[in-house]
Amino acid sequence: MTHDHAPLIVVSGPAGVGKTTVVTRLLEATDLSLRRAVTATTRDARPGEVDGTDYHFWDEGEFRKAIDDGRMLEWAVVFGRDFYGTPRAEVDEFHARGVGVILVIDVQGAVRIRELLPNDHLSVFIEPPSFDELEARLRGRQDMSEERVLRRLATARDELAQADTFHHRIVNHDLSEAVRELERVIRERFNN
Ligand code: 5GP
Repeated sequence: MTHDHAPLIVVSGPAGVGKTTVVTRLLEATDLSLRRAVTATTRDARPGEVDGTDYHFWDEGEFRKAIDDGRMLEWAVVFGRDFYGTPRAEVDEFHARGVGVILVIDVQGAVRIRELLPNDHLSVFIEPPSFDELEARLRGRQDMSEERVLRRLATARDELAQADTFHHRIVNHDLSEAVRELERVIRERFNN
């Protein structure tokens, strides 16, 4: 990353590992000029989720149209059922103002960004202290059927096998420590 560009940071890891929480906490606490991209999904909103804040909740037609129009930086079908993706506008408009952007996306999305922008991003993989811990966290989300939990666990196994392909790995054992470590690797990479 050259310094005439604002940073692009990819934070990935299995669903349920707490990556959104780590990033949200970082953004609350840091003086770095950073923002999380609001990504788009075709899945239903969970109770409490707000359209445009947590995700852009689109139907499949809107999503396919955005892909066809070239408006998505990356997208993937996650857990074999829903579309998830990063609208280009969520990155470009902030980069144009010198604001760094964090993408909290799955491993397929991280691979895509690596192909598109091999030298222009920092990638961080957030991992659980153990697989059992991840399972417990996923099961703690009362709003998911057994079938969906099992699908997420199977995906998580595949994702954990790719952790070494990221620039950094952070174990989310203690939230504050994980936040500190994420801030440290961002500052180290972008000399802030
Ligand atoms: P959830 O349904 O639990 O909110 O998210 C499921 C998974 O989709 C998570 O691993 C999340 O990081 C990932 N995800 C969210 N937004 C995007 C995106 O824009 N692109 C990709 N590739 N994955 C995403």
